[in-house]
Amino acid sequence: MSTHQSFLTPLIPGLVWHSLGFGIESNVYIIISNNEALIVDTGFGFDPPPLFGLNYEGTRKIFQKIVKKFPHAKICLTHAHIDHSGNLMATALENELEIIAHTIEASFLEQGNAHYINPFGGLTIKKIPITTKVEENDTIAVGELSFEVYHTPGHTEGSICLYEPNKGLFITGDTIFPNGSFGRTDLPGGSSEKLYHTILRLSEISHINALLAGHSPPIIGKEAKKHVLMAKKAVEMYFGNFM
Ligand SMILES: [Zn+2]
Ligand SMILES: [Zn+2]
Repeated sequence: MSTHQSFLTPLIPGLVWHSLGFGIESNVYIIISNNEALIVDTGFGFDPPPLFGLNYEGTRKIFQKIVKKFPHAKICLTHAHIDHSGNLMATALENELEIIAHTIEASFLEQGNAHYINPFGGLTIKKIPITTKVEENDTIAVGELSFEVYHTPGHTEGSICLYEPNKGLFITGDTIFPNGSFGRTDLPGGSSEKLYHTILRLSEISHINALLAGHSPPIIGKEAKKHVLMAKKAVEMYFGNFM
């Protein structure tokens, strides 16, 4: 009985690789430009038990391979939740990589605040030192690319989305998912009202070639913008009457 899924697949040739999250794992994206790499989110970092006779290779090993392949990568977290940050508790710290997060999420990660990072409980949370704290209007450079940081509260207080205007890459964490889905707002720091305003604001971004969400398969091409508008319609339907 052998494994497994391929750990890292090219998504947009020469530009974006990814590892698709399994179960509640977050997707992991690797953006490459001029031999520089940015890893966005890290996955859970725990190997699940064998499922359905398959020895699934968990993201702890996958992430180790990613870091081995891109040893000088920067890592950016869209938010603090453990399904996006779990791997940092081991691999990245050992490799002394630059870790980027919004100032608000950074404070929870640096405290090792289990209530915020893993509200479901049951796991030990280690403190993660954040090298670079970012806020709205900051940029993150990767080779020739420059990602704009959008502070997008709603799913958590310090969630961020990253947008690269030249290539139209839109990385949305747990704020916007494909098919009219959006992040839950019932966890600590969540706010339906903030998520509503966040998604309305994000829906104004016009040039989008890739919707790279924290979960679900990515959407590449002109469909991407339509999926952002589906999320807008959905929050208007769910929350619009109360705002
Ligand atoms: Zn998530
Ligand atoms: Zn989350």
